[in-house]
Amino acid sequence: MADERAERIADFIEPLRVPPGTKVHLAEDFDPGYKTAGARKNKEGVELLRNGIELLSEYQQRLAAQDTYGVLMCLQALDAAGKDGTIRHVMSGVNPQGVRVTSFKVPSAEELDHDYLWRYNRHLPGRGEIGIFNRSHYEEVLVVRVHPENLHRQKLPEAARRGDVWERRYREINDWERYLTDNGFRVVKMFLNMSKEEQRIRFLKRIDVPERNWKFSPADARERARWDDYQRVFSEMLSATSTRWAPWYVIPADHKWFARVCAAAVLAHTLIGIDPRYPQVSDETRHELAVVKRELEHEAPKGAAADPYAASVSSGGSGKKG
Ligand code: AMP
Ligand code: MG
Repeated sequence: MADERAERIADFIEPLRVPPGTKVHLAEDFDPGYKTAGARKNKEGVELLRNGIELLSEYQQRLAAQDTYGVLMCLQALDAAGKDGTIRHVMSGVNPQGVRVTSFKVPSAEELDHDYLWRYNRHLPGRGEIGIFNRSHYEEVLVVRVHPENLHRQKLPEAARRGDVWERRYREINDWERYLTDNGFRVVKMFLNMSKEEQRIRFLKRIDVPERNWKFSPADARERARWDDYQRVFSEMLSATSTRWAPWYVIPADHKWFARVCAAAVLAHTLIGIDPRYPQVSDETRHELAVVKRELEHEAPKGAAADPYAASVSSGGSGKKG
């Protein structure tokens, strides 16, 4: 039953995965408007997302209890592709104590005073946690590449600016992610792939609806003018950094609801792969628990059940409320 569920999720996300070693041409290889045949928004979409969220909640509890593995989910996209909404929906059912979201903006002076991975390192999840990077270390080969002035601000020594900076960064990023994986931190990477026309529509909405004005800045329009450059650097990044240990998933993002279903599924797949288990209690501890149980039962006030929880379970109740 659980295996069947795992298999269904694996099949569902397979078309989104970038096979390591393949050369990606975004425009030809991934359709931003894709949704699986027959998947409709109402009913099926809502149902799929609800299932996904339930599964995430269950696995997150186990991840936290086991306290051995951590998960780092990286979200990359162009403006208005739906990063914020995806995070809000996908994490809506999980315990906030086990999740840590970090949004990366233009680097501060302090951040620029360090190596480029420093600030991402500082926000990694701990064991038992799910960390979400809203934008991530991949900005270092995206916006920094499209706008080289960002690279100049990084105060790199001459040698680090020579040769192929981007090839070197891909390698460094792959190595860093491999190091994290080897140490128990799974890195799961999603690119929300939106079409240019869909971005136009969403930008207009941000301008037309006063409550959304804050989400739009003229700088976003300037970035849109560099659309083709971004498609190119995204394609190259996906080709170079989709690895066996940390593959990329290209999430079709023109239908927001479908993007959310996909993101939940990819994260669920990662957690299923970890298969975290509740820690086993030793025989000795179990014995101690039995002793304490008898003591607590003896403390029952007159007329009360010795163990109300056990009584409700044996009488067919859920055992909840207590
Ligand atoms: P937003 O996510 O809309 O709040 O915008 C954050 C801005 O920070 C975007 O314009 C990013 O391009 C920019 N940004 C994020 N990381 C970096 C970086 N490493 N270098 C330069 N700009 C960045
Ligand atoms: Mg923005």
